[in-house]
Amino acid sequence: AGTLRMQVRVAPLRHGRVLVLAEDRTAARRLEEMRRDFTANVSHELKTPVGALGLLAETVADAADEPDTVRHFAGQMQKESARLASLVQELIDLSRLQEPDALVDPELVDLDAVVAEAVDRVRVEAMSRKVTLVLGGEKGVKVYGDAALLTTAVRNLLDNAVRYSAPTGRVSVGVQRRDALVRIAVVDQGAGIGPEQRERVFERFYRGDEARSRETGGSGLGLSIVKHIANDHGGRVELWSTEGKGSTFTLVLPEAYGPATPDEAGAQAA
Ligand code: ADP
Repeated sequence: AGTLRMQVRVAPLRHGRVLVLAEDRTAARRLEEMRRDFTANVSHELKTPVGALGLLAETVADAADEPDTVRHFAGQMQKESARLASLVQELIDLSRLQEPDALVDPELVDLDAVVAEAVDRVRVEAMSRKVTLVLGGEKGVKVYGDAALLTTAVRNLLDNAVRYSAPTGRVSVGVQRRDALVRIAVVDQGAGIGPEQRERVFERFYRGDEARSRETGGSGLGLSIVKHIANDHGGRVELWSTEGKGSTFTLVLPEAYGPATPDEAGAQAA
């Protein structure tokens, strides 16, 4: 357990009595630490690809008369700059999602399109890792929200499922509706996540040791983005996992009923 930090103020009152004000500073301190950690983490994550790009550019300049070497290192530069771009995009997404009104104009979203688009975006990665993608579940299920954000959430879950799968593994995604809730489950047969890590994986910049050592290319922001998107849609993310057997991440959202917009309501009444 952490230490409890209290700020105590004592004010003398009349008749020899005193007023003792005890304020719990733990939460304030923790917030301040999180802010500091965040800046340190961002700086660290940016430094790595920027440093690599500098070194690669130097190497390319030195090897100007060796076309094969230039081509090889230029390819590496492309990879590093793509990594940098996706990290910056994730930071932008995260800061937007933390705004209180992140979901400005919720629309009726068809989850078939969301899932299909998310699957499309991880197909190449899945093929290169020899992971099979399986699509199942119910069709035509709808929620209110932002299609682009929901696609990002499902894509991040699929991306993890693929990256943390062993070759020849299977990743499945499907939509189910029950009790006015919609569940989008992403199931993998990877290494699983231990009980002590199940809360932490949703923290910004948290990466498992395995993920760090294997260099799977992530930044540790993916799941915290998913969690924010779920919260902004009035939903949550559930995690079930058995070590050695795999993990299931489920995006749970309120189901949308009835007409999408006042326009459609009018059209239906007419
Ligand atoms: P990243 O994947 O970029 O490291 P995430 O926020 O997406 O960051 O995930 C945080 C950590 O959670 C990962 O580093 C990994 O240790 C663990 N993790 C996420 N998804 C899975 C999964 N499907 N199977 C096993 N571990 C996972």
